Amino acid sequence: MSLLEMKNIKKSFGDTEVLKDISLTVDTGEVLGIIGPSGSGKSTLLRCATNLETPDSGEIRYAGTFGLVFQNFNLFPHYTVLKNIIDAPLKVQKRKKEEVVTEARKLLGKMGLEGREDAYPYQLSGGQQQRVSIARALAMNPDILFFDEPTSALDPELTGEILKVIKDLAAEHMTMVIVTHEMNFAKNVSDHIIFMDDGYIAEQGTPEEVFGSSNERMQEFLGKFG
Ligand code: ADP
Ligand code: MG
Repeated sequence: MSLLEMKNIKKSFGDTEVLKDISLTVDTGEVLGIIGPSGSGKSTLLRCATNLETPDSGEIRYAGTFGLVFQNFNLFPHYTVLKNIIDAPLKVQKRKKEEVVTEARKLLGKMGLEGREDAYPYQLSGGQQQRVSIARALAMNPDILFFDEPTSALDPELTGEILKVIKDLAAEHMTMVIVTHEMNFAKNVSDHIIFMDDGYIAEQGTPEEVFGSSNERMQEFLGKFG
């Protein structure tokens, strides 16, 4: 069953057409990797998929709820780790505090952050902050989790810990859409890959198909990663 379907999505900012007829589906349990050069429209695509932007035309159909993990963590700086995680389940989903706190502690354990619930974001490393923001997204029990370059604000040694967390989620069959510049990670974790170029899906398929493609723009892009 497909959880998300985007059909003929177009989006312009002023005179700049940023998405030029994008169609894709995401099935239950699938990991979709999105790669492509800076400025090719990857973030705009995620923002349209998650209702942060409205497409100019096309259709989006969801069969479930979604969570979003940003490049720069976007934690509330004046909230503790625990409050960052429980805030939306309490306010948006109106769930019982006891239940939400129990679940938040479980998620913190899963993210390797047990005992840090009273810390503030500034007291944590970037990698720890990103793990809190993943826990926060998971606390809403989303059907799909979207990641927009979750490691690009992190030092290389902190990148690995986030990629590991995402791989563990994939092993649990969490449905995910992941924009990333980590090519080996994209290759290993994705069931399906989309290569965006200049607002189009220039190439898509299995990791083997996309990374083995003779598409010139794809080869040029991959060349930059050595
Ligand atoms: P990517 O994530 O692949 O780097 P983006 O989706 O962020 O690409 O951006 C694609 C293009 O759209 C860029 O040229 C960018 O400058 C432009 N763009 C993105 N968001 C806006 C906006 N809110 N207003 C104007 N231009 C934008
Ligand atoms: Mg982007």
